[in-house]
Amino acid sequence: MFENLSDKLQRSFKNLRGQGTITEENISDALREIRLALLESDVNLNVVTELIEHIRARALGEQVATALSPSEQIVKIVHDELVNVLGKDTARFQKSSQPPSVILMAGLQGSGKTTTSGKLAQWLKKAGHRPMLVSVDVYRPAAREQLAIVATSINAQLYKGDTKGEPADSKLVERLAKEAKREAANYGCDILIVDTAGRNHIDDALMAEMAMLKKLLNPSEILFVADAMTGQDAVNSAKAFNDHLTITGAILTKMDGDARGGAALSIRHVTGAPIKFLGTGEKPDAFEPFHPDRIVSRIMG
Ligand code: GDP
Repeated sequence: MFENLSDKLQRSFKNLRGQGTITEENISDALREIRLALLESDVNLNVVTELIEHIRARALGEQVATALSPSEQIVKIVHDELVNVLGKDTARFQKSSQPPSVILMAGLQGSGKTTTSGKLAQWLKKAGHRPMLVSVDVYRPAAREQLAIVATSINAQLYKGDTKGEPADSKLVERLAKEAKREAANYGCDILIVDTAGRNHIDDALMAEMAMLKKLLNPSEILFVADAMTGQDAVNSAKAFNDHLTITGAILTKMDGDARGGAALSIRHVTGAPIKFLGTGEKPDAFEPFHPDRIVSRIMG
């Protein structure tokens, strides 16, 4: 994760060693290299442009009443600005006043929604909650079956519901969702995680169904699940989902692959919603809360 970006940034800081003060001239090479390193890591162009401008302004503005050398100063400024882009605080989990709190999982097919629903349930269980899982993907019985297997493997409650003989449409989705929320309350589950249908692309039908679920369930969290390996596509779909639904956060999956990390550095800036968790493998416990400062420290080496 981020090794490439990390290496390139280190190299750009080296050029400033041995310089007495920061000037427009001697930081221009470093800024060019930082810009390239970010773009090559697939960070969104607007994010890069804004970051570089902030770094330049601060580097030239903060006239060094400090013992830091120019390269140390740039390292610190880049560190701070990256943390700013990611949001300073570790995201908190929202709950509704009346249990169960509903978490609506949104995202495209294959992004890792079902796997991540299970990971989240397990994480919440470890934190002392009683989550219940439900899949309302009535269009793909295999997806509902996959969630049932996940729930069994982590020993979590699942609302299966009876869908036999009924047409797979939004009416059925609505009924299942309603029943699941009631069932969660009956079982004393304080959180209901709703795994929704994913499609290969964003279309009106998908968004209409998500909007219906949002209205019906009044979720305290709408989490967009993004495949980090898809880079800018993940950022664009996060934006589209956010425009339609106003997401409350994002979860980046497959961070264990050779993702260049750009999506992680762009989603917050593009949607305004924080990244809340990272998926780092296929197993249920390959999952961690997202801490901006730790990630940035990892990038800065
Ligand atoms: P969905 O269609 O969005 O529900 O996606 P799935 O949960 O079925 O996941 C699609 C594929 O991605 C499966 O093979 C998962 O095992 C895999 N997957 C999900 N999350 C991760 C992750 O964090 N790391 C890796 N390596 N694979 C993941």
